Amino acid sequence: MSEFLSGRARAIKPYTPGEQNRGRSFIRLNTNESPFPPPKSVTDAIAETSARLNVYSDPEARELRRAIADYHGVAPDCVTVGNGSDETLAFIVASFAGERGIAAADVTYSFYKTTASFFGVPYEEVRVRDDFSLDAEKFHALDKLVMLANPNAPTGLSISNEAISRVAETNPDSVVVVDEAYADFAGFTAVPLTARHGNLIVVRTFSKSRFLAGARLGYSVSCPELAADLERVRFAWNPYNVNAMTQAAGIAALSEDAYYRPRWREIANSRGYTKRELRRLGFFVTDSDANFVFCRRDETPSAALYAKLREAGILVRLLPGERTGGFLRITIGAQGEAETLIGILEKICGGGL
Ligand SMILES: *Cc1c(COP(=O)(O)O)cnc(C)c1O
Repeated sequence: MSEFLSGRARAIKPYTPGEQNRGRSFIRLNTNESPFPPPKSVTDAIAETSARLNVYSDPEARELRRAIADYHGVAPDCVTVGNGSDETLAFIVASFAGERGIAAADVTYSFYKTTASFFGVPYEEVRVRDDFSLDAEKFHALDKLVMLANPNAPTGLSISNEAISRVAETNPDSVVVVDEAYADFAGFTAVPLTARHGNLIVVRTFSKSRFLAGARLGYSVSCPELAADLERVRFAWNPYNVNAMTQAAGIAALSEDAYYRPRWREIANSRGYTKRELRRLGFFVTDSDANFVFCRRDETPSAALYAKLREAGILVRLLPGERTGGFLRITIGAQGEAETLIGILEKICGGGL
């Protein structure tokens, strides 16, 4: 830190992204990316738009917001877009955390805490159960900005839409956010609830289930009043936050469910296979609904597992933290990768590696 850094910036605790490929070609099971490329219509839309980069992107992202709205059966003024859903989450914290601050699970996506530190708002952690499941009743009547990932990260565990409705109802004077980064892998969404709850915002991303992590595109769905509040903040930050190519990519991706659905199914099948095989090898594994599993093996320290997997060419995420330290988060991709992973773990656990 230089002597010039402000006190406020000193207090920020930056997010640590997953390790990137450098030189060696690893099987990357550490950042919950997709092993599949986006469909051709998406890359074509990007190429076409790139010929018109001399003009600004639409600051209101009208076509994209209409496509998202049509996809979910809501009105376009219920939708706002972000440069990745991390930015949408930041707009939400800037808009609604206020002095009362945020309440989130103690085991959840670490970016919520990072964002709280960025905006200097209080952050309360609500303990998940010993089996890592989320006790939704603990989020009743908190009177703070409630941030829930569903399915949760890094555990992959979900709560029901009924439970989410109750959280929204019991916090009538604050906003409740459901971060659905992995919801397509779980097969449900809370978007329809936003018509009934004027304090509910659902946040989604194209990074994970639309195979567009590099394009940076996220969005929120809520009642029009909350969306207008978010637009106000977005226009104060960067009205051109989503570039033209990404807007075009998002529109194309939303009409490609025939491409995505079979691949989501393959990921779900390979998740089932991975959970079964890890349990057979003596791992504790949560019942994840997402495109990753959360696991540990008491007989083998996770740092050793991590290091041996890395030597064998597979990157996974070794988690820090009081309750999650010692756990691995492993991305689930194509079936072939899952089989390679299990083959190597079998050797490591059998003492052969
Ligand atoms: C990956 C992830 C996000 C953010 O993704 P973006 O790439 O910024 O859209 C948000 N929430 C959770 C829980 C995630 O895992």
